[in-house]
Formats: sequence, structure tokens, C-alpha cells
Amino acid sequence: MPHKHAIGLLAAIVIAVIAGGLMGWVYGPAMVAVEWLGKLFLNGLKMLILPLIVAAVVSGVASLGDIRKLGRIGAITVGYFLATTGLAVMIGLIVVNLIKPGVGVVLGAAAADTFAAKGEVGVSDILLSLVSPNLVDSAARTDLLPLILFSILLSAALTTIGKVGEPVIAFFNGLNEAMMKLVTWFMYFAPMGIFALIASRLGRAGGGDAFFAELQAVGLHVVTVLTGLGIHTALLIVILMVVARRGFGFIREMLRALLTAFGTASSSATLPLTMECATEAGLDQRAVRFVIPLGSTVNMNGTALYEACAALFIAQAYGIDLSLGAQVIIFLTATLAAIGAAGIPEAGLVTMVIVLKAVGLPLEGIGLLLAVDWFLDRFRTTVNVWGDAVGAAVLHRFLPDINRETHP
Ligand code: ASP
Repeated sequence: MPHKHAIGLLAAIVIAVIAGGLMGWVYGPAMVAVEWLGKLFLNGLKMLILPLIVAAVVSGVASLGDIRKLGRIGAITVGYFLATTGLAVMIGLIVVNLIKPGVGVVLGAAAADTFAAKGEVGVSDILLSLVSPNLVDSAARTDLLPLILFSILLSAALTTIGKVGEPVIAFFNGLNEAMMKLVTWFMYFAPMGIFALIASRLGRAGGGDAFFAELQAVGLHVVTVLTGLGIHTALLIVILMVVARRGFGFIREMLRALLTAFGTASSSATLPLTMECATEAGLDQRAVRFVIPLGSTVNMNGTALYEACAALFIAQAYGIDLSLGAQVIIFLTATLAAIGAAGIPEAGLVTMVIVLKAVGLPLEGIGLLLAVDWFLDRFRTTVNVWGDAVGAAVLHRFLPDINRETHP
């Protein structure tokens, strides 16, 4: 996308976010009328995900040239994911222990029924979800992780079979290019889509006044989560500058994707834009195609931070004093819950059961968070996408070293 267009589009998206918020606030339920426009945009993005993710991962891994590099790249990527997710949970635990948002919260009739409908996930479910017994079924449910794993394996195999593998790799390269082209076309619809998504969601919440009343009920919880997310975002910027050696230009390039994450509350739906923006920011394609698809489903810094904050908020609200040992368990399970959460709206709320169960907190506590979750979800999704972008920048920085080591 030409630079001039990119800047214009960014300005349009910023205006869309503000206008969506204002109109949803003022006109309330009337704005539900534009919901379909948001859905149209979201469906368009989702339409791209499957072919894009398979083509990007296969061509990304194949372009490493030497399969030995996959180990090094995998280690850096997974190391980055775990380190930043751990950091996020830590920040969450610190802010929630300092601010203590749950103390004194009135326990109303918690909406346990609403929650029960959302289902439960256990630790073994997360491990089982890595390998799909039926790829078509996974694709039909946009279950991305097993597809990514399969694509990595397929690509690794293709690079070891010589000439017969080449046309297949060329096919996926072409498919990837075409998908990225489609993404640039779809981007022009982002302002309209984001406006509609924000305005209609606020409208569903009953408009500004109704939403404000709900916010106030758990106001300190919202402040805690937003403070934690703010601190983590700043730390990621430090990592970007110190480790990846990139500056504010990178943030500006990524803003279109970040605002889309805010509008859609879905890392998966934002994935095509995240890849496009990272490409335009000048990141190596191998970093973009490897880190971002994988990161969009497993690296969720914002979700991890949120899970820790929310679990402790519930403990505080119920007057349960958690020992240090219990907080360590929260640290581990919140990390796992974030890895297991899908990149779809409010997925973090479902995997939170893992955290609450592990330390014996009442599951009904989730009822306290339901009303404002859609709102906080947008912020944590934005941080999730930001974490992936910084991860790709970090890997980009290490690629020359990896090349030297594997080709001495
Ligand atoms: N909505 C988030 C995402 O797509 C997941 C969550 O609920 O925390 O990244």
C-alpha cells in the first residue's frame, strides 16, 4: 500500500474509532442498526484467515532454506512468547495486589447461568488441541493451532524431498502473495467496519449511560487492568527499542492493525492486517510469516495479564486470602490459559476457569466480570497483537545471526 494511502487510512480509522464510540454512547441501542456492517467487515477478514495462515506458514518455513534454522527460530520465538507472557502475568499480579480492586465489591446475584453456557476448558484440552484428528473439521471451526502445526510439519517435509516438493512450495508462495494482496484491498473497508463494530457494541450495552453505570460497579477492576496493560505495553516498547532496535516508526506502521484489534476484539480476525502492517514496516518475511500466525493464537500477553488480574479480583471480592503459593499457581495457570485462549472475542473469559479451578476460587465470580468484559477485551486484544508485532521485530533482528551460524 502506498505510504500516502497508509497514512490516510490510519487517519480514517482513528476517526472511525472516535466516531463509533461517540455515536454508540449518544444514540445507544439505535446504533445496533449498523451491526451488520461490522459483521460484514469481520466476515471478510475471517474469510482470509484460513488460506492466509496455511500459505504464510508453509511458505515462511520453506523460505528458511535450511530446516536446521527452524530449531533456532522456534527457540527464539517460543522463548520470546514465554518470557513476555510471564512478564505480563507478573505485572498483572503486582498491580492487582497494589490496587486491590476487589475489596469491598458488592456481590450481587452473580450471573452463573450466563457463564455456564460458555463452557469449560481443562489443561489436557489445551494439549489435545495442538493435534487435530481431522484437519477439515479444524478448518471448519477456524481452529488455527493444529492447522499451524500441520503447516509447519508439511513445510519441513516439503523442503527435504528436493525437486518434487518445489512446485508445491511455489504454489503456497503464490497463494500467500495473492492473499496479502486481498488484505490490502480489504483494508480500505476497515474504517467503516471498525466504526460499525464499536458503535453497535456500545449500543448493545445500552448506550453511554447504561454502560457507565456498569463500569462504575467494577470501576477499580477496570482501572487495574488498564494500568497493567499500559505498563506492559510500555515494556514491550522498551523491548522493541533495546532488543529489536526499532523506534516509533514501527509503532506508527502497526497502528492500523492495533486499532483493528481494538475494533474487532479478535487477534485472529486482525491477523491479516497484522501481517500486512509488519510487512510494510520492513520486517523480514520469514519473521512475519512464522511469528505472527503462531503468535496470534498462542502469544496473548494482554489476556495473560487480564486472567491474573481477574482471578485475584474475584478472590478479593469473595474475601479469600490467597497465599503466595496460590499466586504462583495463578502465575502458571494464567500463562497456560492465555496460550489456550483462541483469538476470538471474550475467549479469555472461558479459559479463566482453568485459573479459578486451580486455586479453588468460585466460578460464579466470573459473573462479576461479564458486564464489562467486552470492553476490556478490546484493550487486551490490542496488547495481544502488539506483543506479536514486537515478537516479529525481535526475530527479524536475530535472523542475520541465525544465518551466519547455520552457514559458517
Ligand atoms: N479476544 C482476545 C483475542 O482475540 C482473547 C481474549 O478473550 O482475551 O486476542
